[in-house]
Amino acid sequence: MHDFKTPDEAVSSVIFHNPSEARAAGRIITKLSIPRAVMESSKPHAALLSSPGLGHLIPMLELGKRLVTHHGFDVTVFTISASTSPAESQLLQSIASPQLLNMVELPPVDMSNLVDADAKLVTRIAAIMREIIPRFRTAISGMKVRPTVLILDFFGFEALHILEFDMPKYIYFPGTAWFLSLSVYAPILDMEVEGEYVDRTEPLSLPGCKPVRPEDVVDPMLDRTNQEYLQYVRMGAGLSKCDGILLNMWEDLEPTTLRALRDEEAMAPFVKVPIYPIGPLTRCPGGVAPRELLDWLDLQPTESVIYVSFGSGGTITIEQLTELAWGLELSQHRFIWVVRPPIQNNLYGSYFTLGNGGDDPIRYLPVGFLGRTKTIGIVIPNWAPQVDILRHPSVGGFLSHCGWSSTLESIVNAVPMIAWPLFAEQRLNATIVTEDLGIAVRPEVLPTKRVVRREEIEKMVRRVMVDKEMRNRVKELKKSGESALSKGASSYNSLSLIAKD
Ligand code: UDP
Repeated sequence: MHDFKTPDEAVSSVIFHNPSEARAAGRIITKLSIPRAVMESSKPHAALLSSPGLGHLIPMLELGKRLVTHHGFDVTVFTISASTSPAESQLLQSIASPQLLNMVELPPVDMSNLVDADAKLVTRIAAIMREIIPRFRTAISGMKVRPTVLILDFFGFEALHILEFDMPKYIYFPGTAWFLSLSVYAPILDMEVEGEYVDRTEPLSLPGCKPVRPEDVVDPMLDRTNQEYLQYVRMGAGLSKCDGILLNMWEDLEPTTLRALRDEEAMAPFVKVPIYPIGPLTRCPGGVAPRELLDWLDLQPTESVIYVSFGSGGTITIEQLTELAWGLELSQHRFIWVVRPPIQNNLYGSYFTLGNGGDDPIRYLPVGFLGRTKTIGIVIPNWAPQVDILRHPSVGGFLSHCGWSSTLESIVNAVPMIAWPLFAEQRLNATIVTEDLGIAVRPEVLPTKRVVRREEIEKMVRRVMVDKEMRNRVKELKKSGESALSKGASSYNSLSLIAKD
């Protein structure tokens, strides 16, 4: 059993401006916002605003790094404190110089006064972002030298109409083109479709795109009476108010959907602005995974270990945790499993709380599990150095909740997946990786609908670890992603266009 305490160990490749200075800058914004070097620089200067959540922050940081290292930008990343999980704060605070990105932490938002305790994820994040926008605006106004471009994430769209600054504004959408299509078309579906989407027997049509099965809709669309649904529809309508949308994927990943988004007869009238696929941008390995973990991996045969993790926020029930433990054990395949304390009726139970400490997840494992699997498995409580694990040649499978960053990390390391979606847009991602890309297997019934039993888990683990075709496909996809990022290729050129703009 290994305890990697904080997420920073996995992300030391992300380089920050001194965090205490960044925190000070967030609180005394007009006095100390951006270092002198940036103020005096003649380079283009991008201001990036990330919403809370590691799944949002990590892609934003990667975009910032890419702009600096490949496109000659100065970059300032604005982050939000207090509303984030302890794991996220640690990630932000733990990494010091040398400087690559300038980090400014905006003043904290007290969530307790903003939303009801039982408010859903999108409602919570949207409320935080609404609160933060005036502070962000003040921070930008206080800069002696204004940024030349603003890049906001999906939830930062609220800033588009209140930021009067005369500079191009882009939305960074760290997801798939299919998810973007559903989002910009949500206001139309809202007018045209009656009743709950999930009660339909027919899929939802999106012009020029693959239809969406009712059970695959994103979380806010599961209940049209919930406040987060209204928020999502507003967001879909608001996205096109920017100058362009950046996607963390590449042209060859979803060619049909990208064509539809650019086609006047299909989705273009709804998205309205240019689309720039700029990915796959993923974290570099931190090179800080504990030696004993790497030593263990070094001893295992090539592509023999399955890595199991539900992202930064995903949680499962005690019944599911028990079945998963048994499924892994029965498969007799080697594994690394990131275990969190189980939670009933909350699929993103760690989203705002990861790293809070407290409950030891190990005590929920079946009696004798650790002893029986000690020669084939490693259990890591709460947080693991994911990118270091996935890139190790001994890893040959990933049971994932299909968060988009995890999915890309799997692809860029040529690791086939077991798609186990939990929340947000993860059901769409699971459908893409299994049906369109053919690089994953998935349970017969969605894990959110019923407990996946140990026999099925055992079968999926065996299949993902031996299926040669699936492995070859993901290897091809890895190459295609790599070449999209190379100089002169599609993703590289997309960011160059923004730089020229
Ligand atoms: N992650 C990690 N260790 C963990 C869990 C997650 O390093 O134990 C990282 C993972 O590599 C990815 C991010 O956290 O970069 C999770 O983002 P994703 O979009 O996959 O899912 P989310 O957390 O947003 O649900």
